[in-house]
Amino acid sequence: MGHTVCFCAGELVIELLARLNDPRAKLVITHHAGDEGLDYLHQLQEMATAQNVDLRYVADMVGDMRQELADGRKIYTLWDACPHADFVTYPSLYEGFGNALIETVCFRKPALVNRYSVYVDDIVPCGFQFVEIDGAITDEAVTAVRDLLTHLDTNCTNFHESRITSQEVIMKAMQLRAPKPVSDDPLVLTDTAVPNPAPGQIRLKVSVCGVCHTDLHTVEGELELPRLPLIPGHEIVGVVEALGKGVTRHQVGDRVGVAWVNWTCGKCDYCRRGLENLCPQARFTGLHADGGYAEYVVVDENFAYPLPPVFADVHAAPLLCAGIVGYRSLRLSGIQPGERLGLYGFGASAHLVIQVARHWDCEVYVFTRSPAHREHARELGAVWRGGAEDMPPELLDASVTFAPAGWIIPQALRHLRPGGTVAINAIHMSPIPEIPYHLIYGERVVRSVANFTRYDAEAFLRLAGEIPIRTDVETFPLAEANDALRQMKASQIQGAAVLEIL
Ligand SMILES: [Zn+2]
Ligand SMILES: [Zn+2]
Repeated sequence: MGHTVCFCAGELVIELLARLNDPRAKLVITHHAGDEGLDYLHQLQEMATAQNVDLRYVADMVGDMRQELADGRKIYTLWDACPHADFVTYPSLYEGFGNALIETVCFRKPALVNRYSVYVDDIVPCGFQFVEIDGAITDEAVTAVRDLLTHLDTNCTNFHESRITSQEVIMKAMQLRAPKPVSDDPLVLTDTAVPNPAPGQIRLKVSVCGVCHTDLHTVEGELELPRLPLIPGHEIVGVVEALGKGVTRHQVGDRVGVAWVNWTCGKCDYCRRGLENLCPQARFTGLHADGGYAEYVVVDENFAYPLPPVFADVHAAPLLCAGIVGYRSLRLSGIQPGERLGLYGFGASAHLVIQVARHWDCEVYVFTRSPAHREHARELGAVWRGGAEDMPPELLDASVTFAPAGWIIPQALRHLRPGGTVAINAIHMSPIPEIPYHLIYGERVVRSVANFTRYDAEAFLRLAGEIPIRTDVETFPLAEANDALRQMKASQIQGAAVLEIL
């Protein structure tokens, strides 16, 4: 067990660790960084990375009282966290360190304290070991800390059972601690606690998890991240392995799929109108709740779907986002059987959508730069392939855009007949350039597609089994999730990337 420095959020402690230059030393942040929030945390993470300091952020596991959240995560107190630290820091210049200090004293942890911290005099009589600084890390402070860590008396500290590790089983997961470009390996293979299902939830042993463009936006920080660390992944296929209290829809041993919509409130105006995809309180898998880049996942039983037996696990995974959202896009484009449909971009989602459209006897026109994707589209029955700048031989009745590139929208409008709809299947897109009014005049409609409803999921999965849809996949081991994301970003995947967990 290496040295762990705990409790701090601050530049001073990163500097201390950098100057300590001990490969065993880790900095574990157990407190939210005040009002500065995630921006400040990201600054600290960047600073730690630049100075080669091993920083772990666990503030979302530590609170004022122990509790288990609806999604099964457990909240610990400092009292639980403290036994894991070898050394405690709280060098705030302006505030006392009362709360942290109570545990610190109880556990006899040596600490770094600031001269201005008002309680220093109180703790000296306790035989408390500390290094005092005066607002800056000095050579003497570094030496004193090194000395304390070298002569740690580990026996005197751990009279309290270590709760974080003793109660939990550990699983492997690819975890996002700080968003960064996929070229810098944002996901880290981690041992973390197997989640327990709360009432109404089920736990799956994950077999495979599809890799989606949204995961790319998540790990690269283009989506606002409600929490860190985070396990992405929302095309999850697994077997029900444990039931929370009151679960009735599933049984242990059932194979189910979990998709992007993780939970909706069921009470708001949108939910009541059948538009739960727009529920303002909706939670998403792999964003608000940990996802499937892991050996286990928990989910509300109402948001797990039985999968048609015709699909093997790896072939079922891409249906769960690429497929379901693609199906909703197709519905919202208003395309009717036998009509002409345009598809812009031909990746994971489009290669499923084209099969539904062909099933409906539509003529499909595919716009993509990639020669490999054009060939793939031809194999799947596209009557015409070209670039988004090219004019198709006929005007289209409806189209769906998949590429997150705003410049495609005016092009798609040029190819559209009056009264037709362009449905945008993208959660994130570069700005759409100015559109001359005549392109949209003639009652042409441009609309985005957001998420999906459980109706979309169930209807699409049923249809996919009937057709049956062929999903082309490339598989990667869980630990190579960063590679899968990189190849997807570079459009090097034929069909869909899927992580095999088992
Ligand atoms: Zn997705
Ligand atoms: Zn709602």
